[in-house]
Amino acid sequence: MLEPAYQADVVVVGAGLAGLSAALRLTSAGVTTAVLEAAPGVGGRMATEKVDGFRLDRIGQLLSTAHPELRRTPGLDALVLRPFAPGVLLHSDGRRHRAGAVAGAGGARSARGSTRGALHVVRALASAPRSAPRPPVPKGAVPRARTGAPLGTPVDQVRLDAALARLAQLPVERLLSRPELPAGQALAARGLPARTVDGFLRPLLAALLCDPELTTSSRCADLALRTFAAGRLCLPEGGADMVPELLARALPPGTVRTGVRVTSVSTTAVTTAEHGVFRCRAVLVATDARSAAELLPGLRVPDFHPVTVVHHTTDDPPATGTSLLLDADRGGPVAHTAVISRVDPSRAPAGRALISSTVLGSPPDGVDTAVRMHLARLYGTSTARWETLAVHRTAEAVPVMRAPHDPRRPVRLLAGLYVCGDHRDTSGPEGALHSGHRASTAILRDLGATGSMHQADPLSTTQAA
Ligand SMILES: Cc1cc2nc3c(=O)[nH]c(=O)nc-3n(C[C@H](O)[C@H](O)[C@H](O)COP(=O)(O)OP(=O)(O)OC[C@H]3O[C@@H](n4cnc5c(N)ncnc54)[C@H](O)[C@@H]3O)c2cc1C
Repeated sequence: MLEPAYQADVVVVGAGLAGLSAALRLTSAGVTTAVLEAAPGVGGRMATEKVDGFRLDRIGQLLSTAHPELRRTPGLDALVLRPFAPGVLLHSDGRRHRAGAVAGAGGARSARGSTRGALHVVRALASAPRSAPRPPVPKGAVPRARTGAPLGTPVDQVRLDAALARLAQLPVERLLSRPELPAGQALAARGLPARTVDGFLRPLLAALLCDPELTTSSRCADLALRTFAAGRLCLPEGGADMVPELLARALPPGTVRTGVRVTSVSTTAVTTAEHGVFRCRAVLVATDARSAAELLPGLRVPDFHPVTVVHHTTDDPPATGTSLLLDADRGGPVAHTAVISRVDPSRAPAGRALISSTVLGSPPDGVDTAVRMHLARLYGTSTARWETLAVHRTAEAVPVMRAPHDPRRPVRLLAGLYVCGDHRDTSGPEGALHSGHRASTAILRDLGATGSMHQADPLSTTQAA
């Protein structure tokens, strides 16, 4: 039997968001593609554990309705985003205060008229339990003073809302042309009231960037804040793994091969630990940064932010509705927490509530006990009878984006050799999807693909069992 000269036009190494989204764009253009994934399933870091009717994300992921790639990526039409209540709830001096709600409400409104993904958000909004969000402040009105509010005076709060609204409208290029400093330093230099910075912006940015020290590039921090201001924080219905699952389902059957570890790559072939050599016309390395550097020596490996997610259940959940709760006083290890099953009821069995809390940085010894004590203060209720479902620790969760950070690192290394993943863009799902988009565009250009390429089933002729 004659073997074809190559078994797929493109071999993609890694079935995380970056690899799957690139593969979908390639197959949509008629380019035969094989995705080889070392793990038993797809999704990479976007993993969800299923335990006794609970869906427990390994990540404390905060998506936004304003993430453009979530709406642009083919295959995600069916993704349902479950929104948190507008803005965030800040815990300070034993009280809770809503902040950033004007921006969040605006985001939900603007989502209504836009793309398909947004329609799913609106449906979810209609059915989600409500938590009495603070209504938008009418133009010119001054909100009532709130004693001990972490945001400063009512005038400070009106200014903050106006600044967020302006930020939501600012073109991305303008943000990316601003001077670049560590985010913490940039905040201190912006002339904002200290209470606004310490009581709202620092805890919010720490949560959005998974960076408690705010060493992240101020440009990346501005992008994160812009996304917060332009949309609503949300979760994928069913768990974080729904995003990669939907992408994988949209690929031609047999495209993804799991349990296949790639050990070396060239411009025309990949070698695997278990199934020999796959020949191809181009290789896209879509792994995490450390694995990418093993396959492509010389590629930079960034530092990483560790993240720990602790999941609890109770039959008597606190009354914070669908809000995301942040500690403005930083009085314990929890950066953010929510009664996740109120935001997305599919994540817990009937009669039980799921409370998920995220700890940033290295977790303390006895993290569950420390988290319970902190949650008791944040929610104002005893957590002694809450049951711990899981403690997920990931040391290399999120690539650090220190200044100067290039959010558009090259994805084309050579004609025939490409790399994508969150480490080539901005850390997080949006950056992973966007890097996959850029890499697939470069490959299609190099292959001169216009829609009808090599049509053989890439996996029927491979050496993989
Ligand atoms: C605990 C945690 C919390 C997080 N919190 C946030 C957050 O709050 N906000 C945020 O924006 N982002 C967060 N993230 C980051 C976000 O999940 C990632 O940025 C995103 O999922 C990265 O997708 P990716 O496709 O680039 O890489 P990955 O998801 O890492 O996918 C790479 C894939 O390549 C496979 N692979 C590796 N080596 C090989 C090989 N040799 N052969 C074959 N396959 C291989 C891996 O098994 C994996 O499936 C968090 C991540 C974690 C783990």
